[in-house]
Amino acid sequence: MDNEAYFYIAKTAFEIRPQIARELIEMCRVCTSVQPGDPQVWLGSDKGFTYDYVFDIGTQQNEVYANCVETLVEGCFSGYNATVLAYGQTGSGKTYTMGTGLEIDNDFEGYGIIPRAVDHLFNGINERIGTAKENGTTPPKFTVSAHFMELYNEEIIDLFEGNYSGGRTGIRIHEDCGGGIYVSGITSRTVSSMEETMACLRGGALSRTTASTNMNAQSSRSHAIFTLLVSQTRILEQDPDNIQENPESETLTAKFHFVDLAGSERLKRTGATGERAKEGISINCGLLALGNVISALGDSSKKVSHVPYRDSKLTRLLQDSLGGNSRTLMIACISPSDTDFMETLNTLKYANRARNIRNRVTVNQDKTSKTIQLLRQEIQQLQIELLEYQQGKRVVGEDGTVAVNDMFHENQMLFGESNNLRTRVKALQETIDMLTAKNTQLLAAQATGQWMQAGEDSDISSVVEGYLKEIEELRAKLMESENLCAQLRKQLNNRTNRFSVSPMHGVTMTGSMYESKMEESTQSFAELIEEAKKDLTKDLEAVEEKKKKLFDGEGSGDEENEEDNERNDEEDVDGNEGDDDADSSDESGEDKENYSEELADITSEISIKQKLIEGLEQSQRRLETMKQQYEDKLNTLMTRIRATQDERDKVLTNIKQGKNNDNDRSKTIKAEYEKKITTMQQELKKLQAAQKEHARLMRERTQHERQLRTLKGDLNEMKKTKVKLMNKMKEDNNQAKHEQMRRNKEIAQLRKASRKQETTIRNLEAENRLKNQVLKRKTEELAVLKKVPKSGLSNKAAGRLRKKVGIG
Ligand code: ADP
Ligand code: MG
Repeated sequence: MDNEAYFYIAKTAFEIRPQIARELIEMCRVCTSVQPGDPQVWLGSDKGFTYDYVFDIGTQQNEVYANCVETLVEGCFSGYNATVLAYGQTGSGKTYTMGTGLEIDNDFEGYGIIPRAVDHLFNGINERIGTAKENGTTPPKFTVSAHFMELYNEEIIDLFEGNYSGGRTGIRIHEDCGGGIYVSGITSRTVSSMEETMACLRGGALSRTTASTNMNAQSSRSHAIFTLLVSQTRILEQDPDNIQENPESETLTAKFHFVDLAGSERLKRTGATGERAKEGISINCGLLALGNVISALGDSSKKVSHVPYRDSKLTRLLQDSLGGNSRTLMIACISPSDTDFMETLNTLKYANRARNIRNRVTVNQDKTSKTIQLLRQEIQQLQIELLEYQQGKRVVGEDGTVAVNDMFHENQMLFGESNNLRTRVKALQETIDMLTAKNTQLLAAQATGQWMQAGEDSDISSVVEGYLKEIEELRAKLMESENLCAQLRKQLNNRTNRFSVSPMHGVTMTGSMYESKMEESTQSFAELIEEAKKDLTKDLEAVEEKKKKLFDGEGSGDEENEEDNERNDEEDVDGNEGDDDADSSDESGEDKENYSEELADITSEISIKQKLIEGLEQSQRRLETMKQQYEDKLNTLMTRIRATQDERDKVLTNIKQGKNNDNDRSKTIKAEYEKKITTMQQELKKLQAAQKEHARLMRERTQHERQLRTLKGDLNEMKKTKVKLMNKMKEDNNQAKHEQMRRNKEIAQLRKASRKQETTIRNLEAENRLKNQVLKRKTEELAVLKKVPKSGLSNKAAGRLRKKVGIG
């Protein structure tokens, strides 16, 4: 099951509706044009805009659906969210395209996107259930529910409720922990067929707030959002080797928004006033916020950290459709008429920005099935590990650390060796067969007494026997050597192959240099084997000659040949114990770019050097093994020479003791052995030459070592620099933070002071006002008092006044 998120670039489609009756009556001209096969809209003759899909005048609705909505609906079955937005001025055909209008009738041709999507969805569901039944498997369970809401004056209205009478509704928008948006307090209807869903849609459309403007008598001044929630529970495919009684199931969910946005036109043109104008403003507030969100998401040049989703209910509701987990399609609808030129141009520009939105899309799989999948992977991992423990490959040490058992390696090596021995045994078996055949032949010859004359010296017959024995031994050795030779050659081939596929690029230079050396040494090795083989043949020929001479009646002596065992230890190319430098850096600096560049340089250099060092170390190990091999071989040869010399001496003394009359014979034998020793010494010389070559290689190795040491020093130096750099970055960061804190404190202090001053001013003002009032009252009283004597008041009034002023 693919569980990975991928990026989905929001798609934009363009639909140009045909001219409507009013436009035809007003004799408007068509100002848009589209070249067939080219997704571009031309406005007039010089403004071209490219989109993902363009549908010119006269495009059938099924074509629109099949081209850009079908795959989105299909994605719902795999757990992907989808959103289709219709944008455009009033009368441009948004409602027609979406199919949220009231004119849903029997004319399927004119059906908009929603009826088609619903049809597709239920057909898909039935198809899946049908296939499962046919195959005899458990059919998946589907639950589809719908809600239909309207955003009007920044208020969410439940269109399924049907009796909205203004004011606030209890509907709230929430965000779940995964960033998904959901609505609470809204009526959700579970639907199980196309008819049921369409009835719901029609009912909702009826209760939509509609008001007439100049542009479209039926036009809606609100955003309508029809949402389908599809939930699918299906049985997971079982492992055929491991059928379980209660198979696991997974639940996939998908959310499909169909959004019929409000008209995008500027207010002026609609001629709306009063309440209509207020509506217009908040409608445009939603669209304005939508525009800002689209700009923020589509801006690839600078990283916009804040996307203003919360500026309007519309953008908040569509948060996960815009830049979130949803495949999103915006259909921009335009009118072709020249009277709408400016609005059309605006729509083209608006939709163009939406093309840059990148959404991160994931399958909505429920947590349990995800967990099950993870657990299953873990079980598999653990089973493998357990098997390794059982095989003894892994062991737990006394201190609780897990390690790979040495026995395992040893076992593997022994296994290889036993294979080698098996081949050898086979070769020996063949040799034995041959020898038996030969032996029978010889016995037959002996029986005929061809070359055994009665009365002959019994010594001679024993010598002859001895030679015959030797001949057979030599023959056996030759065969064995040949076999060994072939095997060694095979091993050499393997080794050279391993060299050429070495995956280290960092050490190409030293690697190739070393490779040529190795080739040389392996060549000389092969030559040595060849040489040894030749020697053996020579020996054999010599013996044969001897035999011939012996037939003529002379020669005596015993000869034995040491066998040289060349064992080639399988060398183990170690895996590199890479102690990769963990790159860690806190992302909390603002001016760290120059530092991080330097840091990245150093890090890459470090890794190159590390690779180089690993390569060098590997070559050293290889050289060590080679040296060991040379030395082993030398030792064997030396022992062989010594043994032969001893033998010669022994035989000679034997002869001297037995028969001192046979001077001739002893001479020949002596010569024979001398010859043999010379051959061996030659061989020794060759080997010594090889050793010299090896010493040269060792010198080179010392050079390598020196190089290695410098490299290691460099590496340490660099690591230090890196640490220093990181520290510096941290320090700078801290400093900046301190500075910031200090400033903040200052600002707070200043603010406090200013607040204090304000209070003082206010107090003073209040005091002033009080004083003014007192003054005013006093002035008024004074004025009244002043008036009294002049005005000639009636006695009664004068008396009242006097009383009031406190005179009388
Ligand atoms: P809007 O919802 O954008 O205000 P409408 O969907 O109400 O616009 O469309 C306005 C008029 O144009 C309607 O009478 C509708 O039938 C007609 N109309 C829109 N698009 C098309 C089209 N593609 N084909 C035929 N008529 C269309
Ligand atoms: Mg409409």
